[in-house]
Amino acid sequence: MAVDNGLSGPEQPKGGRVTPPAGRPQLKMALIPKPPEGTRAVMVQSGEGTVFIRGSGKTDWVCGECGAILLERCGPHQVQGMVFLCNACGAYNDIPV
Ligand SMILES: [Zn+2]
Repeated sequence: MAVDNGLSGPEQPKGGRVTPPAGRPQLKMALIPKPPEGTRAVMVQSGEGTVFIRGSGKTDWVCGECGAILLERCGPHQVQGMVFLCNACGAYNDIPV
């Protein structure tokens, strides 16, 4: 859901919805060794699939090892400080700074 506070002026897009571009930019996450216990928040996917978070940003973040999508449409600030354990290949992925 897009938030529109109506303060941006009279130019409102009308009569049609915006189709997201088919190919979103994909950024590779940084591979890191397994963090020592208790030092980082490691996110582990317990179910099927590899996507941890679906957001409303513009960028997909993929596993630096196997290329599986871990964060869909996610801004880097949304997941700062977290480490993601890839459900496909078992690599630890961090947001590159
Ligand atoms: Zn992977």
